[in-house]
Amino acid sequence: MGNRSKDKANIEYRISNIEKRKKMYGLSKFDVRCPKFEPNTCHAGIYIHIPFCVRKCHYCDFYSVTDHSLVKEFVDALILEMEMFSEVGLLFDTLYIGGGTPSVLESTEIDRIIKKALPLFQIASDSEITIEVNPGTVTPESLKNFRQSGINRINIGIQSFHDGNLKVLGRIHSAEEGKTAIKCARNAGFENIGLDLISGIPKQTEKSWLFDLETALQFEPEHLSCYMLTYEHGTPLYKDFENGELSPLPEPLAVSLFRSTGDFLENKGYIHYEISNFARSEETISRHNTKYWNFTPYIGLGPSAHSFYGTKRSWNRRSVKDYINDIDSGIMPAEGEEDLSMEQQIIEAIFLGLRQKCGIDIGSFNEKFNVRFEDIFRETIPDLSKKELIVICDGRCALTRKGMVLLDSICAEFVCRES
Ligand code: SF4
Repeated sequence: MGNRSKDKANIEYRISNIEKRKKMYGLSKFDVRCPKFEPNTCHAGIYIHIPFCVRKCHYCDFYSVTDHSLVKEFVDALILEMEMFSEVGLLFDTLYIGGGTPSVLESTEIDRIIKKALPLFQIASDSEITIEVNPGTVTPESLKNFRQSGINRINIGIQSFHDGNLKVLGRIHSAEEGKTAIKCARNAGFENIGLDLISGIPKQTEKSWLFDLETALQFEPEHLSCYMLTYEHGTPLYKDFENGELSPLPEPLAVSLFRSTGDFLENKGYIHYEISNFARSEETISRHNTKYWNFTPYIGLGPSAHSFYGTKRSWNRRSVKDYINDIDSGIMPAEGEEDLSMEQQIIEAIFLGLRQKCGIDIGSFNEKFNVRFEDIFRETIPDLSKKELIVICDGRCALTRKGMVLLDSICAEFVCRES
């Protein structure tokens, strides 16, 4: 977990306060009906952030705490926050319980959350309902309970099938426990299993990474997320790097691992639909995460969770304590919001579009921003095409495999060169 949030964290958020949020919508504090979307006309997503972990992993900079004394109060507050959002007026087709580590909660608490959400929000009957779990915090029984609660998709934070790598990452589980969790999830009736893996771990070799991928495929997962290890400021991993106690993989090797991942998984029939994500079929592409890349509205519940409507983003207070206190005082636990300018929207449309294999839909881009994509990027497009970093085909602009490795610098080319 945590990595899952990277899909959202690529978008930057700014600070504001609850009064601004109310002003933004011009509505009372418990009525946050989205002005940009007619009720029931779009399928939005619900994200629920469970901010607890057993122990912090060495590489993780996402918000979670290891003190579980407020778990019960947190779930009570979460349920009240759901009630605050219940009149949001959107139809939802995904519910994603992420974190943190949702599986540190008792399955009865997860059941309580779902049982509250399903009748409260307008959630389509064929919705994708996902939970993230850590192999060190599940049992055959808890997995069965999750399934019985209506969860139909499970994302397991495996990260590696090498105990040495798991130790470097500071994970709480062994490789064997990872395998057991996958088997138990299948036995519990999950037909849509996603596995998270991390490449670029210090001392990792191409051979050991391919072993991780091969091992993962033995379980025929419906989805794979393969993230590149990043050294985030303030994490123990970053400190070890600063102190010279560990060195990141040489860049050419990290790039080579990225390319081998795509080659290997595509050869095995997986669809490489986003920079880090692979699905065994069109049906198992993550419906929820795709919302983050396509500007689809979503509401985020729980500490530090983000919401998005139209051009507006808002986010909750990070601290579990502050979150609970706000809700107990009857106010929304919002910490900030921003209204994306046209320029920001264009930047995000490029960045999020290029992350996806299908790329940017040029027609929709032109219509949305009232521009001509080919005109505003008249120098960048031919240049990047010549270097075989992007391809324009069927009205779309997408990265090539070579270009995917250079996503950030290619986006910078689009954004800086002709602005
Ligand atoms: S399990 Fe590890 S990676 Fe996931 S949120 Fe907790 S500390 Fe971060």
